[in-house]
Amino acid sequence: MVGGMEQLYSEVILDHSRNPHGRGEVPAGVAQSHQMNPICGDEVTLGVRLGQGGTVIEDISWQGQGCSISLASTSVLTQELTGSTVDAARTAQKRFVELMHSRGAELDFSAAEELGDAAAFSGTAKFPARIKCALLGWMALLDAVNMAVEASESDTRAQSAQQ
Ligand code: ZN
Repeated sequence: MVGGMEQLYSEVILDHSRNPHGRGEVPAGVAQSHQMNPICGDEVTLGVRLGQGGTVIEDISWQGQGCSISLASTSVLTQELTGSTVDAARTAQKRFVELMHSRGAELDFSAAEELGDAAAFSGTAKFPARIKCALLGWMALLDAVNMAVEASESDTRAQSAQQ
């Protein structure tokens, strides 16, 4: 059965790398982060737009090039986190970083459930050279979310100062 899961997981990664979610122009004016993984040549610029007073991720867009792991991982986070709250996205990001540092340990059911398609990268954690590839988009996401939250907080301050 382990072979079956690994097969399923590699299909998930292949699928996302072939049809990446959210890949396209990053609109001007959104909080965005550019990250590079020079070891592999991966590069991503990821933008985040928040809504509902800066608490919900309304839109994720990204441009990038690189290996299939880096593209698939950025696609998965776009699929899993668009529409989620900022808090939930930060938690998921933390979980994913933990997963990538687990050296390929078996996921328990609730962790797999929480990660959704991102659980497919559990096997990648066995290959130290690929960990940076898988983390690239998630680092850009956290960075862009932090910037977007900061911008929305300073907007709120400016508005209340005017009143
Ligand atoms: Zn790579």
